[in-house]
Amino acid sequence: MVKKAVEFLFDICFLSENLCSLCGKRFKPIIQGYVCDECIKNLRRSEVSVKPVKYVKHYRIYGRYREGWGEIIRLFKFKRVIPFADVIAKKIKYDFEEYVDFVKPEVITFVPVHLLRYWVRGMDHNEEILKRVGIKFEDLLVRVRWRKPLVFFDKEKRKEIVKNSFSLKKNPDCGRILVFDDVITTGATARTVSELLYYAGVKEIYWYFVAG
Ligand SMILES: [Zn+2]
Repeated sequence: MVKKAVEFLFDICFLSENLCSLCGKRFKPIIQGYVCDECIKNLRRSEVSVKPVKYVKHYRIYGRYREGWGEIIRLFKFKRVIPFADVIAKKIKYDFEEYVDFVKPEVITFVPVHLLRYWVRGMDHNEEILKRVGIKFEDLLVRVRWRKPLVFFDKEKRKEIVKNSFSLKKNPDCGRILVFDDVITTGATARTVSELLYYAGVKEIYWYFVAG
């Protein structure tokens, strides 16, 4: 708490203006010093086209990765700028709840980070977003392999790495599930996790992504 207050005072005194990492304009940081309020206000939902993913019945993507969402997620996930978890949750809340109404899942869960990464970061970014959305969810999946973030690999390598890198903490014990993840790129993670769930008896698998 004291540390937070000192940081805040430091920001007020010494970092009077920052450059927004989305629009490049100068702005006065209040809650965070990376993205200006105008750009946050402009982050929006887009109709992102979806292509079929094996074992996935249907999925929805909230916004476009290149329209600011990629940067917001990157800052939250890799730079641990926690206020962006609130920004993401606030923006997607209504749409996510609407999708939950449409899917009517028996269980909602999320794609977790590896335990080692959890220790390093001190959080699981997807779990943090779901907590802030304020919806009931279960911690069902576990990442069983330690690896570099997928962005460092090409498409084919990603598919190979993702294969077999998840396991289940317990029996899903449901017929319809909704899995939450921050970003969809090739769909390799969604396919692998869905395959795992499918063979564990979940026949209807839905996904929700913040960006794609
Ligand atoms: Zn901006």
